[in-house]
Amino acid sequence: MSAATFVLAISLFVAFTFATAFGVASLYARSNTSARWLAAGYAFGMFNPLLEILLPTQADARLIEVAVPLSLQYGAAMGVIALARHYRLSPPWRTVIAFVLGTLLLNILILDLPRDSALRHVLYQSPYFIVHVLGVITILRFPRRKALDNALVSLFALSAVQFLIKPILAVNMGSGTTAQNYIGTTYAAISQSVGSMLLIATGILLLLIILRDVLAEMTARSETDTLSGLLNRRGFEARAEHLIGGATPCAVVVADLDHFKSVNDSFGHAAGDGVIVAFADLLAQHAKARTILGRVGGEEFIALLPHADAQGGQDYAEQVRRSFASLALESIGGRPVSASFGIAGMEAGETLTDLLRRADIALYEAKRSGRNRVCAAPTKAEKSPAVRGQGLFAAG
Ligand code: GH3
Ligand code: MG
Ligand code: MG
Repeated sequence: MSAATFVLAISLFVAFTFATAFGVASLYARSNTSARWLAAGYAFGMFNPLLEILLPTQADARLIEVAVPLSLQYGAAMGVIALARHYRLSPPWRTVIAFVLGTLLLNILILDLPRDSALRHVLYQSPYFIVHVLGVITILRFPRRKALDNALVSLFALSAVQFLIKPILAVNMGSGTTAQNYIGTTYAAISQSVGSMLLIATGILLLLIILRDVLAEMTARSETDTLSGLLNRRGFEARAEHLIGGATPCAVVVADLDHFKSVNDSFGHAAGDGVIVAFADLLAQHAKARTILGRVGGEEFIALLPHADAQGGQDYAEQVRRSFASLALESIGGRPVSASFGIAGMEAGETLTDLLRRADIALYEAKRSGRNRVCAAPTKAEKSPAVRGQGLFAAG
């Protein structure tokens, strides 16, 4: 067995492993069409080493000679579609179709060129070069690239360059006088080894990127409240701790809908849900881009306003309060709704728990003094021990 055959067997196994891995990944995240395209791409690519190993045993190898590069080139084209899907870009369908037809034609045309001609080698490698450049362009279209995405761009660029160097190597080293004896050449051993290493590196990187993004999606889902679309308590706490950890000055607004039990009692739970959604929409509508919004209980909400003081919180809460009180929701027969708000601005040395506790006391005061109003928390110095811990959110 030649060195190249040995490497081809490894590549076959590697492609099979990745086809299976991406196939399994696509089962776990059914919405993840990119994993499906990658599984198909690697499965298609398996024909390359398989046919290359079979080729020396064929008397007339012309059909296989066309199929060998096509399988890898089409597999890589599926990879480009997968990348576009993964980064939520529109796949370059026209370019891919032109590529598919063009490479078919090219691989047939070069059959009759002399095997050792530089022109044939350049034409043979050009589709590989083009498809890798397409990969680079696709990833570069994605603006929010992180380290792994940039590593993938570099790997695709390196692979593309490799296909520019191969014709030079092939001309100088010789790639076999016939298609059948290519596999016994030193050029084949080098070319297949480099290809196999890049195949492994690319596959691992793609798997890591898919894994990273599936995990991020799962985390986002577990931190989002499905009814309102705001953060749930866990999500709110995670973002808020992160913000406060960075010592950003901020204000907090806590809100609780007024007499909400009676809305449920009179119009049913579904209508009540509609009121919750309407309130959440107003919170989002009046909020600045970086405001952290959470639905932290049934009809209890928190907004954390970075770079705002107590007055900023007061203004925001007042806008939401007014908008909410002027709603006439059809689902509850136009019955007036309202909410009460407590606000607090962060003081030196305060933790998130301290801040929320003060806002909570203010909310309790808003409820006690008649509802449909915004109350500001006493500052630390003013805080009355008598009402401490009586707030609606009072953390244990
Ligand atoms: P208050 O003005 O004192 O806040 O009176 P309230 O009736 O709003 O009292 P409270 O805040 O304790 O009421 C919470 C009610 O909210 C109890 C529960 O039936 C209702 N609730 C909690 N979660 C949901 C939800 O997801 N959907 C609906 N429709 N109702 C909910
Ligand atoms: Mg409540
Ligand atoms: Mg309430």
